[in-house]
Amino acid sequence: MGKDKVSEEYGSLLFTDAVMQERLPKPTYKELRQVIDDGAPLDLDIANEVAHAMKEWALEKGATHFAHWFQPLTGITSEKHDSFLTPKGDGTVLMSFSGKELVQGEPDASSFPSGGLRATFEARGYTAWDPTSPAFIKDEVLCIPTAFISYTGEALDKKTPLLRSQVALETQAKRVLALFGREPKRVYTTIGPEQEYFLIKESDFEKRPDLIYCGRTLFGCEPVKGQELEEHYFGAIRPTVNEFMKEVDDELWKLGVPAKTKHNEVAPSQHELAPIFEQGSLAVDDNLLTMEKLKLMATRHGLACLEHEKPFEYVNGSGKHNNWSICADGRNLLEPGAKPSENLQFLVFLAALVAAVDEHADLLRMSVASAGNDHRLGANEAPPAIISVFLGDELDAIVDALINKEEPEDHASERMDLGVPALPDVLRDNTDRNRTSPFAFTGNKFEFRMCGSQQNLSDPNVVLNTAVAEQCDRFATKLEGKTGDEFTTLALRWVRHTLRDHHRVIFEGNGYSDEWEAEAERRGLPNLKSTPDTLPCIIAPETVAFYGKYHVLNEAELHARYVSKAEQYAKLLNIEANTMVYMARHLYLPALFDYSGDIATSVATKAEIGIESPVEKELVRTLTDGISAIHAATADLEANSAAARELSDPLEQCRAYHDSVLPSMEHLRGCVDAMEKVCGEDYWPVPTYNQMLFWV
Ligand code: ADP
Ligand code: MG
Repeated sequence: MGKDKVSEEYGSLLFTDAVMQERLPKPTYKELRQVIDDGAPLDLDIANEVAHAMKEWALEKGATHFAHWFQPLTGITSEKHDSFLTPKGDGTVLMSFSGKELVQGEPDASSFPSGGLRATFEARGYTAWDPTSPAFIKDEVLCIPTAFISYTGEALDKKTPLLRSQVALETQAKRVLALFGREPKRVYTTIGPEQEYFLIKESDFEKRPDLIYCGRTLFGCEPVKGQELEEHYFGAIRPTVNEFMKEVDDELWKLGVPAKTKHNEVAPSQHELAPIFEQGSLAVDDNLLTMEKLKLMATRHGLACLEHEKPFEYVNGSGKHNNWSICADGRNLLEPGAKPSENLQFLVFLAALVAAVDEHADLLRMSVASAGNDHRLGANEAPPAIISVFLGDELDAIVDALINKEEPEDHASERMDLGVPALPDVLRDNTDRNRTSPFAFTGNKFEFRMCGSQQNLSDPNVVLNTAVAEQCDRFATKLEGKTGDEFTTLALRWVRHTLRDHHRVIFEGNGYSDEWEAEAERRGLPNLKSTPDTLPCIIAPETVAFYGKYHVLNEAELHARYVSKAEQYAKLLNIEANTMVYMARHLYLPALFDYSGDIATSVATKAEIGIESPVEKELVRTLTDGISAIHAATADLEANSAAARELSDPLEQCRAYHDSVLPSMEHLRGCVDAMEKVCGEDYWPVPTYNQMLFWV
């Protein structure tokens, strides 16, 4: 797309505010804005008018269907398409779309995981329009972003708790801001998700059942070259990939997704796409759209896009950095201000964040736990499984000084009145990045780096929003009624005490080092290494009380998430185990029979004419031993996986998959990979790491 075309087409498939303003009668538009901005209730007459305008707009853009677009507990998006067609009874049709159809849908989506919230006989959940996220057109379908709720009002999706957590944060942050004499209309989070992914040839992808069924390779010996030369990072982009990226940008821009930067990542064939940040839940929706487009567009270029956290052993996996900040009417609250009072306000939010992360480190860790992400976290390529906060030298010095009631060394002269330290400007372009930290302050926002590349970002943001809301609540409750110098003194004391009490979570060193693990243990920080380890905290009484207090998730909803997260983990590992057994029996063993058989034949033939062939003989022996090992390991995996499948308690089952099935998988992989190293390439039944990662 050329420059002019871009600005012309940007958001052309999005039912934007401008489109609404243009197409709706003024009073209707005004009322709708109130619904969107202030959460006012929606009147059916208004809904009818909006639906009509939306339909007319969508028909002009070539849409024939509409769909309620929602995010069940699987995390990915779902949609059921309904056409606008309404037969008139005389053989002709009308294109219609009512307010009721806009506002509420009944997908009869009884097969989605609900963690027991709905027994299937009363399966109906309904989808409810989320007017804060604009409708868009995708493949001739008008997509309406919705929340997915049971008839008893329980959240069956990822979006509803996110919206609730945003309300909680807004409410509590406004109380804090009021104490600083500010009354913003809206307080909201901003999120910028950096999406990593791999691109390989579709023809290679199609030959690997593990990639097709599981999204990651379950076998494959180390490639001759990995990422050690680091030439891929920010390197020149292959023409095919460049074409693909351009098309993705074009598509995303039409949908109003502000895709901004794209570059090659560290691992071979790994890339990243980062958008300009947007308001919280909208950014999450747009990230989901981005993931969908990446996958879809890739196939148009003969490529396959892998969004799994660990598609390949031996090179880095993929994450999704969740850049997070909090904003009041366009003013970033994590940006230190010019005036001392603004600095105090900044310090209050900073302290709130540090405390929030420390107090709910287990939930934060849980929110990014998955079978896929377990391969990354703690594996010297991604942050460890231990949650800590990195502030950077400047801010760290200020925090230390505050706690110790000293003046920061270099900034003594800059100390302003009322005991509030002046925050240096350098904070704003803080480039002192610590890449090993899971939660890093990067100048005017925090970057949560533990998220997995294929995950729905709602989960971590629900934790963050609610945890910060809780701290804001505490601050406001303590300080309400105080004014003037007394307020300043007490507020600063709150900052000081909060930072002191949660100082253990601040860590500026190398998060990848073994020393940190030991040090973190001394500090009493949780180190939840795998998904099963993180499950219990979802239903802990403290969690129920915490989410209950801010009306984000009730006990039944939490229990549902516990069950569904466990189920998803177990089911995924079961599929991986099945795939390995299948590949071993139907691909690898037959290939090894062929190869060893051919060499054995050649040994026998040579012997007939009196030629000894010790090397070939030895190889046949190695291959035969390998075949036996693979055979035994396959049977072992099958048995362990069958045993795990039988267990009924969700946690016990996950532990069995983790403790017994995963090691069996690793063992089988070892046996097969050892044979890959000695087997002739023409015989090997699937593309190798060398081929997949370094395609031309
Ligand atoms: P890096 O790779 O160095 O982390 P990128 O430019 O790739 O930097 O990504 C930074 C991300 O942070 C972008 O998506 C950007 O929009 C986002 N971001 C910047 N400011 C904020 C903010 N105030 N709130 C949330 N996200 C932000
Ligand atoms: Mg980043």
